[in-house]
Amino acid sequence: MSDKPILLWFRQDLRLSDNPALTAAVASGARVLPVYVLDDKTPGHWAPGGAARWWLHHSLASLGRDLEQCGNRLHLVSSDNAAETIRELAKSTGAAAVYWNRCYEPFAIERDTELKSALKADGIEAESFNASLLFEPWEVKTKSGTPPKVFSPYWRALRALGEPEAPEPAPERVAPLKAAPASEKLEDWDLLPTKPDWAVGFHDHWTPGETSAQVRLDRFLETALDDYKEGRNFPAKPNVSRLSPHLHFGEIGPRQVWHRTVAHCHAADRNPFAGSAEHFLKELVWREFSYSLLYHNPDLPEACLRPEFENFPWDSSEKPLSAWQRGKTGIPIVDAGMRELWQTGYMHNRVRMICASFLIKHLMVDWRAGEAWFWDTLLDADLASNSASWQWVAGSGADAAPYFRIFNPVLQGEKFDPDGTYTRRWVPELADVPDRYLQKPWEAPGNPAPDYPAPIVDLAEGRERALAAYQDLGEAE
Ligand code: FAD
Repeated sequence: MSDKPILLWFRQDLRLSDNPALTAAVASGARVLPVYVLDDKTPGHWAPGGAARWWLHHSLASLGRDLEQCGNRLHLVSSDNAAETIRELAKSTGAAAVYWNRCYEPFAIERDTELKSALKADGIEAESFNASLLFEPWEVKTKSGTPPKVFSPYWRALRALGEPEAPEPAPERVAPLKAAPASEKLEDWDLLPTKPDWAVGFHDHWTPGETSAQVRLDRFLETALDDYKEGRNFPAKPNVSRLSPHLHFGEIGPRQVWHRTVAHCHAADRNPFAGSAEHFLKELVWREFSYSLLYHNPDLPEACLRPEFENFPWDSSEKPLSAWQRGKTGIPIVDAGMRELWQTGYMHNRVRMICASFLIKHLMVDWRAGEAWFWDTLLDADLASNSASWQWVAGSGADAAPYFRIFNPVLQGEKFDPDGTYTRRWVPELADVPDRYLQKPWEAPGNPAPDYPAPIVDLAEGRERALAAYQDLGEAE
């Protein structure tokens, strides 16, 4: 075994299986120092929001336990310059190399590129791998060699690359340093909220960590995949995987999800590229597509991809945004979604689209305000998926919903929550409102929900106002 260790920098790949940087480090025969750097103070970075910090705490605890099973320990260090900290640690431990799996946020790419050069200048090898995506964003191209700008060609181009690489199993042993440097304590990082502990309900819904990610995937495949295509639209149905936070933190990789889904279908003698299974794989590829958009448009989180949208007359007053954030808009399906988000750190995709559309179109609030709120409150907050999705709903993005497609939240609620199970669960003030008025309680005779607010906007007027503003942008033709 080589005297010189390899420093393994964990980032958004908090797992031991299907972890190519870890596999390579172990295969080299070297001792390994696994490190996580908490770098949430650097200006210009999208530091993890409040909900994501809760997840991060538990995910790191789980990774630490898993590494201990392999005879090693996770070294924790906080810093306001992660690259410099890694460089110092590599030097002080006499490391031969630093390995990591790639991140695709623009600031991470810049940081990692500089670090690679700095390490090389120090005589330390630096190698990066792909653990987060099925294929690299630069690999998925149209026939003319450009990155696809809309989803269907993206899917076709990705499929033309063949099957993604098969995942590697977790190593049994990760040889530790003879004398590892002292680690900081996870508890000292204050990642968990205390006063008040607004995350108290999260434990009822989530168990962060690699093992529970695998369990969740298996349970989804066994019980929910068959009806995914239809069921995924109905927020009260248990037909979505809820893998998104596990995927964001890299507790499970998309290659694992892909290959397990394909194997599950083959075992049942079914075609994975038809019906519900294909639909699920396509959703996984929407994630890839979002990463491609971010990679090729680094200002996606901050600037409208279609620049004319910068002239939209946004309403920057506090009241509409605050009512939306608190789930008190008086529009039942919107309030249900916003309260689900606050209480569980998650919101169903159909309802995310409804809530985002309502904020941007009926309330005319800048999509970036919604993006920021989701960033802070979603456990799966992900720079690529969040910014691409907000721009998609706003109509300012690449593969965007047309500006005139303004969801009617009453009709959406009636169609996708027909018996009101989801809406009543999150908005208990509506318990006594009859089904036919549930999504428009202001029309119900006898005021059956006295504690529920009146709608913050007249839906028809709000729609007309948004359409007029879009037309002023020259979008009408
Ligand atoms: P499933 O339906 O089980 O899908 C499986 C996986 O595919 C998901 O875990 C996710 O990784 C991926 N996926 C599914 N739909 C999409 C999509 N539309 N775009 C990108 N990836 C997708 N997703 C995030 O992971 N992080 C975000 O910050 C995020 N912000 C969003 C903001 C808005 C306004 C909207 C409309 C959508 C956003 N999404 C985001 C996409 C989507 O809502 C979630 O990925 C999905 O709801 C997660 O639930 P699930 O794991 O049960 O999904």
